[in-house]
Amino acid sequence: MDTVWPDWQNDKLGTRIRVALWLHGEVGEGKRFNKQELRQAIPGVEQVDRRMRDLRPAGWVIKTYRDMASLSPDELFLEKIGAHIWEPGQRSAGLRAISGKTRRQVMERDNHRCVRCGVAAGEAYPDDPESVARLTLGHVTPHKHGSTAQLEDLVTECARCNETAKHLTGVQYSADQVWDRIQELPKKEKQKLLNWMAADRRPTSPTEHAWALYRQLPAVHRDTLRVQLSLALEAGTGSAR
Ligand SMILES: [Zn+2]
Repeated sequence: MDTVWPDWQNDKLGTRIRVALWLHGEVGEGKRFNKQELRQAIPGVEQVDRRMRDLRPAGWVIKTYRDMASLSPDELFLEKIGAHIWEPGQRSAGLRAISGKTRRQVMERDNHRCVRCGVAAGEAYPDDPESVARLTLGHVTPHKHGSTAQLEDLVTECARCNETAKHLTGVQYSADQVWDRIQELPKKEKQKLLNWMAADRRPTSPTEHAWALYRQLPAVHRDTLRVQLSLALEAGTGSAR
């Protein structure tokens, strides 16, 4: 039996559903598209970009130039189609699961870093310098049924760790290879690593915290702060206590 999808051009459907149908029917997984095409497909709708971003909590993976160095600022990449929110049972998937306030509080508590790997927003991965981290929220126990949107059940994760936690994909090194690296560490570092493993997170130093906060600023503000700190250190005031 052929499945008949609702028409993405039907303006009686909500914008979020139309965007999902357009991405599913016209773009497809593993394909690039740009914001212009999206706006042309669904014209006259304000904040169509935002409705697209609202698909992410429903399991859609849409990458921007911040996540993929090969994209231009106007381009996007549909990596994964998530919940079929046009189907009756899935309409509310990912909707308002987590409030903006909760999101801010969780990120603040976790120092704006991925609690799993320690990467900060916009920072390149040490083992994959081509891709930069995007922070998202994950559940403390990803497979637990009935996970809530409460502060204590949520942690800050980068998109990569979030995917790994949910699907156990993205494994690039074998356990043996990782063990080889671990054995090369001095004893003191091994103990430190064990503490991180036991806590399932990496603690943040004040410098790393400042770095993570700096990383989430727009580029123009980062430039200003970099110059400001450089001047302060040259003038000898940067180390004033
Ligand atoms: Zn991570």
